[in-house]
Order: sequence, then C-alpha cells, then structure tokens
Amino acid sequence: MKVPLSEQLLFEKAASGSGQFSAEHSLLNREKLVSRVPSFFLRKNEIGLPELSERDLVMHYTRLAGRMFSVDSHFYPLGSCTMKYNPKISEDVSSEEGFQYAHPFQNEDDVQGCLQMMHELEQRLNVICGMDAFTLQPSAGAHGELTALLIARKYFKDRKEERIKVVVPDSSHGTNPASASLCGFHVVTIPSLNGEVDMAALERECTSDLAVFMLTNPNTAGLFEKNIVSICEKVHSAGGLTYYDGANLNALMGIARPGDMGFDLLHVNLHKTMATPHGGGGPGSGPVGVKAHLVSYLPVPFVEKKKDDVYKWSYKRPGTIGMMKSFWGNFGVALKAAVYCDALGFSGLKQASLTAVLNANYLKKKLEDTFTVPFNELCMHEFVMTPHPEKSPAKTLDMAKRLLDFGIHAPTVYFPLTVKESMMIEPTETESKDTLDEFVSVMMQIADEARNQPEKLHDAPLTTYRQRLDEVRAARNPVLKYGDPVDPA
Ligand SMILES: *Cc1c(COP(=O)(O)O)cnc(C)c1O
Repeated sequence: MKVPLSEQLLFEKAASGSGQFSAEHSLLNREKLVSRVPSFFLRKNEIGLPELSERDLVMHYTRLAGRMFSVDSHFYPLGSCTMKYNPKISEDVSSEEGFQYAHPFQNEDDVQGCLQMMHELEQRLNVICGMDAFTLQPSAGAHGELTALLIARKYFKDRKEERIKVVVPDSSHGTNPASASLCGFHVVTIPSLNGEVDMAALERECTSDLAVFMLTNPNTAGLFEKNIVSICEKVHSAGGLTYYDGANLNALMGIARPGDMGFDLLHVNLHKTMATPHGGGGPGSGPVGVKAHLVSYLPVPFVEKKKDDVYKWSYKRPGTIGMMKSFWGNFGVALKAAVYCDALGFSGLKQASLTAVLNANYLKKKLEDTFTVPFNELCMHEFVMTPHPEKSPAKTLDMAKRLLDFGIHAPTVYFPLTVKESMMIEPTETESKDTLDEFVSVMMQIADEARNQPEKLHDAPLTTYRQRLDEVRAARNPVLKYGDPVDPA
C-alpha cells in the first residue's frame, strides 16, 4: 500500500468525523461509568480531545511508525554519539514485572534484587574504567559532567584553594564548556594540533587557578590522545583535577582504562555504549566515577553491601555534594546496562570494542581515496572525513541528505568544528561487513553524482516523505504551534 504523503493530525481527522462502527464505544457504557465516579473527580469543562475510533488511531500511529528511521531498521553511522543496535535481551529483562513495578518507597527487604543490581553495576563500571567508586544518579552525560564538576568545586573549597578555571580543548563536546560554565567556572578553550591536544597550549593554562582539565578520549577526531599520560601529569603538577569525558566508551571496553591513565573523575553514557538507545531526550544514564580521594564527595544515597549479602541504602559520605536525582536515578537504563554486561561478559565487551575499532578502520580505508581524511592514522571507533575537491566535489550537507535516499541515516556533519565540511562516521560493532560494503558503494555512487550530476545532490533527498527543507527559514521563522499562520515570506 502506498502511504499518503501527508498524514492528517488526529485533531483534523476527528473534526472531519469518521462515523464508522467503533467497538469500544458500543462496549463501554459511558454513562454508567460516569455515574460511578465521585462527582468532584469529574471534569467541569470539555478539554477538546479528539474523538476517534481505536482503528483510526492505530492506523495513524502505524503509518507514522513506518516512516521512522531507527537503529532497528536502518544503518545509522552517527559519529560522536554511538548509535548501535541494542540487544533485546536487555529490554526483555528490564520489562520483567518485578523490575517494572518496583517502587522506590518499598522496604529495602522487598527490593534486594534491585539494590544488588545497582551495587554490582557500580562494581563492574569500576573494573571497566579503573575507578574506585561510581554513582548511578546522573541521568545523562551532561548531568554527569555537572555532577563531577560540583564534586571538583567542593573538593577545592574544602582545601581552601581558589581555582576557578576549567580548560577544554576546542574539539571537546559542547556539553563540556556548558557544564563548566553552569557550575560557575571560568571556561578556557585551547586549540588542538593535528587533531590532538596542543601540549604547549595546555602547559600555558596549567596555572595556580586551574581547577579541572576536561578531555574527551577518543577525541572528536576519532583519535586516541597519544600524550594522555603526560596530559594528566601536567594538570596534576599544577594542582588541578583531570576529567575524562567517557560518553563514548565503545572503543575502550576491556582494552584501556581511564583510571590507569591518571584521571580523577569521569562520566560514561550508558545510553550510548550499553544497550539503551539515545536521542529524542529519552531516559539516559551518565554514571560518574571517581578515584579514592573524591569518593566521599559523591552523591547520596548509595547502595552498600552488608554482612550476609544484604544490601542497604547508605548516606555515609561526609563531603557529599547532595542528591543529583531523586529515588534510584534512571533505574531502567542502569538495569539494561547491567544485563548487557552480564550477557557479553568481560571478554564480550572487549570483543565489542575491538570490532567497533576494526569496522571504523575498515570504512576509513575503503573511503580514503575518494574522500579526504584529514587525520589519517589508526582511528578508534569513528573517524572524520570531508568531500575531496576533485574526487567528490560536494557540500557535506548535500551528501548527507543524499544518503537518506539510500535508506542510510546521515552521519554527524559539521562537527567537529575544527574541520571544515566534516563528517563523523561511526559504524559500530553491530554492523555486518555486508552493511559496511553497501555503505561504501553508496558513498562511491554519491561521489560520482557529485562529479557528474551535482544538481541531483543539491535537491536531495528525492524519495523521502519530505524533500529538502528550508533550514534557514525554519531557524529564522520557526512555527512551533499547530494552527499558527505560516509566514509566507
Ligand atoms: C553524547 C556526549 C555527551 C553528552 O551526553 P548527553 O547524555 O547527551 O548529555 C558528552 N560528551 C560526549 C563526548 C558525547 O558524545
């Protein structure tokens, strides 16, 4: 069946009146139901919800769902923000009734399994990252950054050290400077050199007011910072703390540990690496790990393992920054991560990371002749490339849009900001060699079009429900509310 291009809103559909037989209307005797509700619960005013049959509603949402681009249906090589297939075993376990209906006000005795899971996930993250303790409270990567920076602020306050400066490389994820600034620090950005931290620039910022140096590794060029150990040493000798943005752990699991590299604090995004899809603002989890000297600053409460394998909530952290999230944090996301770790085991996690790195290098090798790879060395889980002035002469935006015509999600474009016309490509370990080869052949075809039919790229996508949108106009004159007149200009 051909799906109509425009799908009416439910409000429009209801207004046009469908009038067909509706089972739920005949089955429910509305008046009888209403008569049983205490009158003070009854609505006084109509709130104007559309009335439709169940069938109309189901068709509407099923049609819309068919238009979705998702990791379960399409290749999604989105750099910087690992978008990989999330095994369904995690969904299965997290939707078990015992977990679904657990309530944070339940007695500890009733929810021992939940507490045990949280405790064990913290231990696992310690082993994977080389840290001494974790908190599961933060509900996203940026929330984890804020948590860690609040810890750093309190740490220096207790030591009566006035340190107000947070240093970030220019390739850092935008949330790093934003979190530091939100936390009241003065943010200084240093340039990078060939895609990595410029050591001389870092040295200049290693002054007595340096609080924290925040580093994303592998960095946004997809490279492992070669000077990582001496970066930590330099920051420490100036009295500062080192922060590791581990949002993308996908290249590292079972291979290298931020704690061993010399980092004091880090966050990881369970909703990128460990079995929860991300995007759309859905629930996430950004646990923060610290070394021993910062453990007492972590949020409370936390799960403690007592005698006879009994788990209890504890508030015993004298320096704590307080609570960063109510109740158990985003418990479901933590649970999916725990199942993921269990299902794969330590060697499976390592295999996932090795394969992620292999897949990225495979794609880079296949594409490096037709596109420009600015930092062409061994990459980690992702790499950056740009159109080649002769072999694939196009704008990155046009190429990204054209990919949609082939049922492939566009990579991250125009990021990192340090590379003009950049595309960040992250295939992840969950893609087969067939998918990678198909992506290569599509990219070759697009490069060919860029040389021979540039207008085709300019108009792409050509086969999607909506064609090229006027992004400038959408940004300048956003029409955000249904029913608002659209500016014809
Ligand atoms: C995704 C990401 C973040 C932010 O994580 P959110 O959960 O979106 O807040 C921070 N740093 C890096 C490197 C990331 O990729």
